This record gives sequence, C-alpha cells and structure tokens, in this order.
Amino acid sequence: MKKISRRTFVNNLSMGVGTVAVTASLPSFLPLSGMNRGIYKGRKLNIALCGLGRYANILAQGLEETEYCRLAGIITGTPDKAKSWKAKYNIPDKNIYNYENFDAIATNKDIDLVYVVLPNSMHKEFTIRAAKAGKHVIVEKPMALTAKDCREMIEACTSAGVQLAVGYRLHYEPHHQELMRLGQEKVLGQVRLIEVSLGYSLEGIDPADWHLKKEMSGGGPLMNLGVYCIQAGRYILGEEPTSVTAQFGPVTKTELFSEVEESVTWQLNFPSGTVCTSSSSYMSNLDRLYASADKGFFELSPAVSYGPFRGRSSEKEFNFPVINQQAAQMDSISRLLLNHKPLPKHINGEEGYKDMKVIEAIYKAANISKKVLVKDS
Ligand code: NDP
Repeated sequence: MKKISRRTFVNNLSMGVGTVAVTASLPSFLPLSGMNRGIYKGRKLNIALCGLGRYANILAQGLEETEYCRLAGIITGTPDKAKSWKAKYNIPDKNIYNYENFDAIATNKDIDLVYVVLPNSMHKEFTIRAAKAGKHVIVEKPMALTAKDCREMIEACTSAGVQLAVGYRLHYEPHHQELMRLGQEKVLGQVRLIEVSLGYSLEGIDPADWHLKKEMSGGGPLMNLGVYCIQAGRYILGEEPTSVTAQFGPVTKTELFSEVEESVTWQLNFPSGTVCTSSSSYMSNLDRLYASADKGFFELSPAVSYGPFRGRSSEKEFNFPVINQQAAQMDSISRLLLNHKPLPKHINGEEGYKDMKVIEAIYKAANISKKVLVKDS
C-alpha cells in the first residue's frame, strides 16, 4: 500500500488525532480509559502485535498513549521489522516471534494478549493459535472470511478460557457514542432512515496487494470498509437487520478488480422498519453519515474513518473531544481484562459474527439480485 492515494487520504483524515482533551460535553457512554492519564500505577496488560503492517503502526502509536496496557511483544514475518521495532519500542528478544515459532508464546508469562493485525485470511488461524496459547485476543475487522470461521474462533476462545474482542475502535469514540445514544434512546424519536457510506480511491495500488486478492481479503470494500457502515446502522438502532438487498457497482479498473468488487451499495432492513442504505467503494472517496428521525436528524462527515469527526444534530453542533481511538479502545479492554471482567457484548466475538452474517447476506443479495434474509450459519 505504499504509493496509493488511500494513504494520503487516511493520513489527512487522521491528522489531529492525538491526546484526549476532556470537555464538559462528554456523552455518558464514554469509557473512563485515558481520562485520568498518569494516575494508574498498577500492572499493565502486556500486548503483542501480530503482523506489523500499516495499522499495527497506528496501534503502536496508540499504545504510547495508553495507561492500562503496553506494547510488550511482536509477531512478524519480516526480520528487518523485528530489528527496527525492537530498537524503537525496547522489546526484549524473548518477546519477539515469527509466524512459525509463534506457538511458543504459550510459555511466555510476559504476554497477556495477542492483537491480530494480519490480512483477513489469517485472522482465524492466529486467533485460534493465540487462544490455544492461553492468550486473550483482539482481532481486527473484518473478524474472518466467513461467519462459520467467526463461530470457530469464538468457540476456540471459549474453550481456552480466554476473551475475544474485535478491533471496533469507533465504539470508544465520543461522536459515535453520541450516535448510539441518540438512536438507541430515541432522543429525536424513532430513526427512520440512515445513510452511511465509506470509500476511498485505490489509485496507484500495487496490483499484487492482498486487498485485491479474494483468497486473502475475502472481498473488496464491503469487507474492508462496509463493515463500519453495517456497524453504524446496527449500533444507531440497537437492532439486527433481518434482510438485505444489494447491488454491485460498475468496474472501472478491470486490471485491478477481477477478484473483488470495486464498489457495492446495499440496503439493510431492520425490524422497526428502518432502512440503512450504504455504499462502500475503492473508486471514490466517501465518508458520511445521515440519520433521519421522527423529530429531527443527526449527521457526521467525516463519519466512519479515523476522523477527526464533525457533526451535528437538528438541535446542536457536536462538540466532542478528538481522542486517540486506538488508545481508548485498548485501554478500555485492558482495564476489564486486568480486573478479570467479561468484555462487553458490543465489541466481543459475537459482534464480529453478527457483522459477518450481514456481509455474507449482502454478497449473496448482490450476486442473485434478490432480497436475502440474514440468517445464522
Ligand atoms: P498491511 O498489509 O499494511 O499489513 C499486514 C501485515 O501482515 C504485513 O505488514 C505483514 O507484517 C503481515 N503479513 C503476514 N503475511 C502476509 C501476507 N501474506 N501478505 C501481506 N501481509 C502479510 O495491512 P493493514 O495493516 O492495513 O491491515 C491489517 C488488518 O487490519 C486487516 O484485517 C485490516 O482490515 C485491519 N485494519 C483495521 C483498521 C481499523 O481502523 N480498525 C484500519 C486498517 C486496517 P510482517 O511483515 O510483520 O509479517
């Protein structure tokens, strides 16, 4: 992903994401993590990052701002990265693994949790191997390639007695917590219609990049970006979609998109009658959310990327702090694990499974051009 405009786009969006600034307008859902920075003096949760690519670098920056956890180890297939990360983050040799010797982590008491940041096709294997090694797991989105794989990952973690979270950073972000509050508490009445979309142009991408290979990515922008839109619809309403319709967009770059879709648009139908319409695309930059309710509206743009987010409701402009989403996410999870508490349902493996069921229904609906029910697999 070196030369692509996505990087510029994402970098631009992430500018300004920094230290937590606490204001009086924090929504009630905001976790305490990060808010008392510097006060906590107890043991920190030791995290090992598995797969040192672009997002692992962002997580490592986040870990420099966390209070309840620290970067303790790495798993990498690239010896040069092992060397540079060891030097940069002061990681001892005994906490550095590759994909072959990874299972030896089972005897390493200085690693509590493995954060799987690998290409999508590797999420299942490394989640299960980490669980068997007795480590808690955070796995990046999309949780796996299929809903069936998600179930196997959940079962592996349950039988190993470890906890499993999906890397849903937006659950810790104040604008998104406000969306949950406005929608689920019906502050502006019942939400009737949601439009939420995310896309970026892959101009300049290496045609060999794993995002374009179905075997490794599982699909195109729906798997990578659409999952945020599905999430937003689900957490604004606090409901599960029952059926979907979907349409693939045109292929404008046939040389890149022979295996995965370039664009897709879909509609989720919820039990309340609310419809959530979304597009995700590798053709154009798109990052917006609008929700229409009986007594008003709320909106965000940028909406589901790294932010910083801007938005308002029909009653007021949003004035929430810009936070480091990754630090807030890892701190909140770590605090619970340190206290031997269960992770909340809205970010655990079941949540990833629910999204994957919807993704599968969307692909099916787009392929057969018919409404498809969202079912357990
Ligand atoms: P990258 O391609 O940048 O990094 C993936 C890393 O995985 C590589 O650098 C490499 O690390 C390792 N790897 C092992 N085997 C392979 C292989 N066969 N091909 C390519 N890489 C391999 O991907 P990202 O960091 O962008 O994405 C990783 C995961 O994180 C994805 O699941 C993605 O969806 C998710 N993600 C989540 C985001 C969020 O906001 N929550 C944002 C961006 C991504 P090494 O050299 O150390 O072995």
